[in-house]
Amino acid sequence: VSLSNRTVRVAVLPGDGIGQEIVPQAVKALNAARGSLSIELGEGEIGWTAVESTGAALPQATLDLIDRSDAILFGAIGGPEYEAWKRKNPRGSPLLQLRQDMKLYANYRPITLFPELENASTLKPEVIRGLDLLIIRELNGDIYFGEPRGLVNDAPGARESINTMRYTEPQIRQIAHAAFKAARRRRKMVCSVDKANVLETMGLWRDIMTEVGADYPDVTLQHLFVDAAAMELLRRPTQFDVIVTGNMFGDILSDEAAMLTGSLGMLPSASIGANLKGLYEPIHGSAPDIAGKDIANPLAAILSAAMLLRYSFDLEEEARRIENGVRKVLADGYRTGDIMEPGTKRLGTSAMGDAVAEAISAGV
Ligand code: NAD
Repeated sequence: VSLSNRTVRVAVLPGDGIGQEIVPQAVKALNAARGSLSIELGEGEIGWTAVESTGAALPQATLDLIDRSDAILFGAIGGPEYEAWKRKNPRGSPLLQLRQDMKLYANYRPITLFPELENASTLKPEVIRGLDLLIIRELNGDIYFGEPRGLVNDAPGARESINTMRYTEPQIRQIAHAAFKAARRRRKMVCSVDKANVLETMGLWRDIMTEVGADYPDVTLQHLFVDAAAMELLRRPTQFDVIVTGNMFGDILSDEAAMLTGSLGMLPSASIGANLKGLYEPIHGSAPDIAGKDIANPLAAILSAAMLLRYSFDLEEEARRIENGVRKVLADGYRTGDIMEPGTKRLGTSAMGDAVAEAISAGV
C-alpha cells in the first residue's frame, strides 16, 4: 500500500493567544503539501479557550477527538486569564495530562539554522553556519519521576530533601532506538550525553546505548559527559547530528541549543509515544503580549506540521515539501516582525502562512 494513499487523522488544538493565529497557518501548509494524501482534521479546544466555552481546560470532547486521532497539532496554552483561573482551580496542567495519557516518552527538538537568519543568533555566523541538529530527550524517567523523593527530615537546622535519579533498561532501550532510527533519516551520527563518570544510573545509560548501537552498525555512536556537551554546543555546534539524553540533561541542553539560532518563532518540536502517536508544537508559548495582532511568526507551527508528517506518518517527502516552502519564502526575503532585518519584506501571520502555502504548492 502506498503510504500517500491512506488517510491520516490529526487533532488540531490551537489553544490560546497566538496559538489561534499560527496553527491555522500550519493547517494551510498541511493542505498544500498533502498531494494525494487524505488528511482528516478535527479541531478541539484546550486551555483558556476551552475553559471559556466548557468550564474545563481539557474537555472530554477534546479527549475523544485525540482518541480518534493519530497525531496532535498543538499551538500553545496560557495567558493572564488562564493563570488567574488556574490559581482558583488548581488541577494538573492539560499538557502534562496529555503527555501522561499518551505515554509520550521522547521529545524531539530539531535546531536548524536557516542561512538567511544567521544574524539573529548571539553567536558568530561562522560558528552556527550549517547548524542542523536534533536533540532527543527522554521524558518519562530520571530524577523528575524517580522514587523515593521529598522531604526526609524537617527538623529546624537539619532539613533534608531528596530526589532519585532512576532509569530502567526498557526506558533507556526505547529512547536509544528512537535516536538511532532518527539518525538513519539524517547524517547517521548519534551523540549520547550522560554523566557516567559520576552516576551509576548514567553508567547504565551508557552501557545500554552502546548495546543498542550494535544493532545500528551504519550509525556512528559517540558518548559525551554532559558538562563537555554543554561546552561543545557553544564551541562547535555543527559537529552534532542527533544528541540523545535523559530527562534532566535534555531539559537543560535543549533550551541551550534552542538559543543557538536566536529565533524562538522558528523552532518546532515533537513528543512521541507508543505507536508513534505524537504531539507536535512550536517551542514558544502563547505570547499574550502580541496575541490578536496578526504579527506572530507562524513558521515554528508550520515546521511542527512537517515534523508531524515525518515522525508520526513516515511521510518524508511531504515533510520536506513544507520545509522547502519555508526555505523558499525566507530566501525570497519575506519575514515576520521578530526576524526582520534591513532589506527584507515584512508580512503578517496570515500573509506569511499564505506565502508558505503558495511556495509549497509551486514546489509540488
Ligand atoms: P512565550 O514563548 O509565549 O513568549 C516569549 C517572548 O517571545 C514574547 O515576547 C513573545 O512575544 C515572543 N514570541 C513567542 N513566540 C513568538 C512568535 N511565534 N512570533 C513572534 N514572537 C514570539 O513565553 P512566555 O511569555 O514566557 O509565556 C507566555 C504564556 O505562554 C504563559 O502563560 C506560559 O505559561 C505559556 N507557555 C505555554 C507553552 C505551551 O503551551 N507549550 C510553552 C511556553 C509558555
